[in-house]
Amino acid sequence: MDSYKYKYRPEPYRIKMVEPMRIPTREQREEAIKRAGYNTFLLNSEDVYIDLLTDSGTNAMSDNQWAGLMLGDEAYAGSKNFKHLEEAVRDLYGFKYVVPTHQGRGAENILSKIMIKPGDYVPGNMYFTTTRAHQELAGATFRDVIIDEAHDPENEHPFKGNVDLAKLQALIDEVGPERIPYISLAVTVNMAGGQPVSMANLKAVYELAQKYGIKVMFDATRCVENACFIKHREPGYENKTIREILREMFSYADGCTMSGKKDGIVNIGGFLALNDQELYQKATALVVVYEGMPSYGGMSGRDMEALARGLYEAADYDFVAHRLDQVRYLGEKLLEAGIPIVKPIGGHAVFLDARRFYPHIPQDEFPAQMLAAQIYLESGVRTMERGIISAGRDAQGNHYYPKLELVRLTIPRRVYTYAHFDYVVDAVQAAWNNRQNVKGLRFVYEPPVLRFFTARFEPIQ
Ligand SMILES: *Cc1c(COP(=O)(O)O)cnc(C)c1O
Repeated sequence: MDSYKYKYRPEPYRIKMVEPMRIPTREQREEAIKRAGYNTFLLNSEDVYIDLLTDSGTNAMSDNQWAGLMLGDEAYAGSKNFKHLEEAVRDLYGFKYVVPTHQGRGAENILSKIMIKPGDYVPGNMYFTTTRAHQELAGATFRDVIIDEAHDPENEHPFKGNVDLAKLQALIDEVGPERIPYISLAVTVNMAGGQPVSMANLKAVYELAQKYGIKVMFDATRCVENACFIKHREPGYENKTIREILREMFSYADGCTMSGKKDGIVNIGGFLALNDQELYQKATALVVVYEGMPSYGGMSGRDMEALARGLYEAADYDFVAHRLDQVRYLGEKLLEAGIPIVKPIGGHAVFLDARRFYPHIPQDEFPAQMLAAQIYLESGVRTMERGIISAGRDAQGNHYYPKLELVRLTIPRRVYTYAHFDYVVDAVQAAWNNRQNVKGLRFVYEPPVLRFFTARFEPIQ
């Protein structure tokens, strides 16, 4: 079958256990979205049919990972499962020190606290919500140094996550290298649409940073997807394994934060990885305050075992190529239906361009928030806003106005089949057909930070 060219890559697994679900009726959906204040984060999971809210912690673990759960060593200190996790990170990513945390933001909190002084600047390739929140809480100002193409949903640059070296150099010249503790580099870039960074760019950023003694810290949350894009798109990498590509990628970093809930293929967990011993010591001093002993950091032994096994499974080409194909399948079907999406299709999600859905709704009446609510109303499919609500407010209390006003359809790992994606395409098509009849939203309740999680809205009449 090697010569057989499939239209899309079939599942590299078979189903051993099923979780029944049902489509709520139109009346149930209308009631549910009102109860949720038009915020899909506030819907009950029971009221949702296909859940594309996030790929975070929603993964299906393998039989091998479930078997690993039974081998949990729940000793308070020195669990053997921590050793396995540490070995996996050393082996796959090449870092010396591993600090486990309850999830990615636990690692971000510690990294921000040990490295940032008030008044510092942290450049990054587009912001991520929790990452920037921790940097700002530690007293830093975030500066976006991603290439301009990343802010244009129509631009088909193959590596839209790349750093613009001129922007990075300009920031160094403006504030001085001593006020830049590290460069925060996401691989892939979630907020740009799951877009990858090229190996050449990772190398160039690292060289520039080294020249000024600035550290480079990866947000490694979706590093496996980034590696697969490099294999598919960057000349010279087509015959390399995902593991070889990962090792080279991480050779251009001084450390990373990781949410195991994404490319770790588990439901909870994360870590901070470092090469510098002094930094590692500072991190262990804080992990005991915020997470737990340095040998569990908020995870149970069994969780660490499942994560160690998941890291290996994710670094397998069949796994990640199938995942990228599922996302591509959904994206291409939407394009065929004439739906405006961010191009090229990213690694973990398809992003709808809400500005082109609802050109008649101004950005401060939250078109993407409304589009996510409409898709739910049409179908029971849950998606999420990634636009002005996610971007939040600046220190003066004004909305950030991001160029991208998107709705994210995020694909959990190993959970849904291609038939589910056909249903999702019909759901989005129904929202598209009804687009002229839809108006914007206004706040009923707005929380002070990370407002997208718990804000409530009502439709503008
Ligand atoms: C999810 C995510 C995080 C935060 O990780 P949690 O495990 O949710 O705390 C950080 N960065 C990116 C790019 C993410 O997608």
